Amino acid sequence: LLILAIESSCDETAAAVVKNGREVLSNVISSQIALHTLYGGVVPEIASRKHIEKINQVIEAALDEAKVTLDDIDAIGVTYGPGLVGALLVGVAEAKAIAYAARKPLIGVHHIEGHIAANFIEHKELEPPFLCLVVSGGHTHLVCVKDYGEFEILGRTRDDAAGEAFDKVARAIGLGYPGGPKIDKVSKEGNPDAIEFPRAHMGDTPYDFSFSGVKSAVLNYLNGCKMKGETWNQADVAASFQKAVTDVLVANSMQAVKEYGLRKFAIAGGVASNSALRSAMKEACEKNDIDFYYPSPIFCTDNAAMIGVAAYYEYLKGTRHGWDLNAVPNLKLGER
Ligand code: ATP
Ligand code: MG
Ligand code: FE
Repeated sequence: LLILAIESSCDETAAAVVKNGREVLSNVISSQIALHTLYGGVVPEIASRKHIEKINQVIEAALDEAKVTLDDIDAIGVTYGPGLVGALLVGVAEAKAIAYAARKPLIGVHHIEGHIAANFIEHKELEPPFLCLVVSGGHTHLVCVKDYGEFEILGRTRDDAAGEAFDKVARAIGLGYPGGPKIDKVSKEGNPDAIEFPRAHMGDTPYDFSFSGVKSAVLNYLNGCKMKGETWNQADVAASFQKAVTDVLVANSMQAVKEYGLRKFAIAGGVASNSALRSAMKEACEKNDIDFYYPSPIFCTDNAAMIGVAAYYEYLKGTRHGWDLNAVPNLKLGER
């Protein structure tokens, strides 16, 4: 069964062909990062326009690379939320047009369900139930994946998402956009114990997160140095911030895994490609005798292959959308 998947929720125009839910025949991603770097972040209007310019050629490339034609495709999967409304609309309109013209079923996919599903691509043995930490640009969720497409959110961030905190701190220490990968890189030269930034633990809701405090602490530290006329070390600040965030993500995840008695734990989303987070999680899982799953970096950040995987399992469950499918910018996980 072949799914053609389309993803355009933020600043990546992406299309992929996925066979039987777990085999990626093609995964084409056209990133707009260079364009948005000029403005220090994603400009929604520019993102929508770029999607329109690129989407047809990205889809054609995905079909070509997979060596299939539209006739071979069994269903069209598309991200319909959450994300930037104008950006989402480009993918949704395109998917509807193709599905209608080629008489194929249409399956709208939740973007975060896609991020979680990215784990199925390289771990053929992974099946629900398992626990998943979703850490992306807009989300920080601790999710119990009860079954394919069935989720219980155990905890979430009260303020900034983890990726958002990486991006803001990167800007403050002069690394620019996109911040996550740059902090990851310079941290390798820094001392993670150089500065003690706060780790926020929510007493009443142990699986919730908060990252605005650590972000403010970094800003205060920089201001303090400036006022005292002292210099600060970029790599040390980056590494210490990264360690503070990672510590909390690991602690909350391990507590949840133990409490829910699950022996399988996965990470997903752009921040899941962070090398310090991956190694800290790996160590913690080994210590607690838990199987640890994570996607390759290319499947962590936005891509359409993960949408194709999620669409496949939705297809099996009978999910079909009509021609009235619309973009839903604040779609909740588990909603249909
Ligand atoms: P969402 O998925 O919540 O809608 P998004 O699609 O914009 O948001 P992703 O594409 O999943 O987010 O991830 C992008 C985020 O991941 C950015 O905030 C980026 O800084 C962060 N990121 C990417 N690589 C790394 C890394 N190596 N270390 C830390 N953060 C990273
Ligand atoms: Mg992106
Ligand atoms: Fe994403």
